[in-house]
Amino acid sequence: MDRPIATIKRTKEIQEKYNVFTKKSYGQNFIIEPRVVEKIADAAIKSKDELVFEIGPGIGALTQCLTMKSDQVIAFEIDDRLPEVLENEIGYDHLKIVLKDILKVDINEEIKKYRKPDQKVVFASNLPYYITTPILFKLFEATEPIERITVMMQKEVADRFLASQNDKEYNALSVITQYRCDIKKVMDVSRHVFWPSPNVDSAVVQFTFHHKYNLKDEELFFKMVKACFVQRRKTIYNNFQTLFKDKEEALQLLEKAQLKSSIRAQQCTLEDFIRLYEVSYESLC
Ligand code: SAM
Repeated sequence: MDRPIATIKRTKEIQEKYNVFTKKSYGQNFIIEPRVVEKIADAAIKSKDELVFEIGPGIGALTQCLTMKSDQVIAFEIDDRLPEVLENEIGYDHLKIVLKDILKVDINEEIKKYRKPDQKVVFASNLPYYITTPILFKLFEATEPIERITVMMQKEVADRFLASQNDKEYNALSVITQYRCDIKKVMDVSRHVFWPSPNVDSAVVQFTFHHKYNLKDEELFFKMVKACFVQRRKTIYNNFQTLFKDKEEALQLLEKAQLKSSIRAQQCTLEDFIRLYEVSYESLC
């Protein structure tokens, strides 16, 4: 491999050469440990012909590894100082830098634009932490096929995605994500492998789309799950009944779904929520 960009020496050299000092407002914390970027790229890409989208390449620490492992990498970056750096320092023909705010990108259009027939699509990123959740939800809501997403995020946020029933971090986000994906932790990452070092530790999480469930009107299902978690300390009945004019009906539906009205949403599995949705569908519409 070329000289790795993900070292403190090389990062500082590049920053000085191009006068690109980190911008806090863009969540810029660059990885300075080659083993970390290699492990993310290894987990993210299973075969050279996968189409890889990177979010926030920065000065190219992870991008460099992604371009070694795939024949087609598209990287979205918001900071207009960085395409020049990436083109000079990495500059492969199979790497395309797109200067765009990921939150304004039409993901479906971008996939359609670059994807060859039957090509698998994967996303990889050391995410800008200030917009972790909106980015991920944008990807989860995409209708074009995505195989897997491998991303670094704040450890605390990772714990919420990885939480299961009865964990204190378990919430609507955990349930909705499990509905779409199998979720696994790739590794924990210390705050000391970033430049500058953030105040929190991180974790790399992988989401693999499973297509196990196919509910009618998924938006309505997500709305119901969110409603059940609105007041975490209250019972599922207390939260669920807010969706109905007739409270008695809410009670009957819980019973039909074999859920005790006295339990809390945190005690319910994804399957419990799916059962509750199926018996309530007609009434919720
Ligand atoms: N990938 C590099 C690394 O690992 O060293 C940089 C990661 S840094 C945590 C986040 C990157 O996302 C920065 O390059 C930042 O400029 C970029 N970024 C921030 N907001 C963005 C947005 N809305 N759209 C695209 N890129 C964004």
